[in-house]
Amino acid sequence: MIMKIGIIGLQGAVSEHIEAVKRAMLKLGIRGEAIWVGRPEQLEGVNGIIIPGGESTTIGKLMLTTGLFEKVKKKAAAGTPILGTCAGLITIAKRGDEQVMRTKQPLLSLMDIGVVRNAFGRQRESFEADLEIPVLGKEPFRCIFIRAPAVEEAGPSVDVLAKFKGKIVAVRQGKLIGVAFHPELTPDTRLHEYFLKMCQNKG
Ligand code: GLN
Repeated sequence: MIMKIGIIGLQGAVSEHIEAVKRAMLKLGIRGEAIWVGRPEQLEGVNGIIIPGGESTTIGKLMLTTGLFEKVKKKAAAGTPILGTCAGLITIAKRGDEQVMRTKQPLLSLMDIGVVRNAFGRQRESFEADLEIPVLGKEPFRCIFIRAPAVEEAGPSVDVLAKFKGKIVAVRQGKLIGVAFHPELTPDTRLHEYFLKMCQNKG
């Protein structure tokens, strides 16, 4: 099969994800492509969807106006794997903090988690940390956090994949993965590989 991964390309770190998916495909010997998605029809036939980091209010609103919001919900219901990074993690959540309520930003309500936006405070807008993420192997994973959210509570069917300073920063529920950091900004492709294996039905 030729794999097709759709990156929601309305705002944020889109091209970096496309490059990271291509590198991960090469590593795994998967024949496939990563496409920039701006319209719902483009999600026909994709084996996986990535919602990138950026500004979750903007991404959510643009997903509504383009019709991608409903389409992604349908694909998720049909079992298509979804990876949400940073703003994408917020967008796939069921519940948000008071900042989310105040801005009335649309949430896809896919993963049974509650998220806090800008969870690491303004003093530490952006930082890097090497975290242990056991599903990716023994070697720590370099995580780049940029005005990052965190998961403040997770339902019983959600697996916590990583924590930083007591806060949950990586989660999985079935075929959904959410991370608070930016895996597309480092050369390490292990998180994308983990996701692609899921898209191949092997993870
Ligand atoms: N702070 C952004 C938000 O709340 C997320 C930042 C990011 O994606 N790097 O939407």
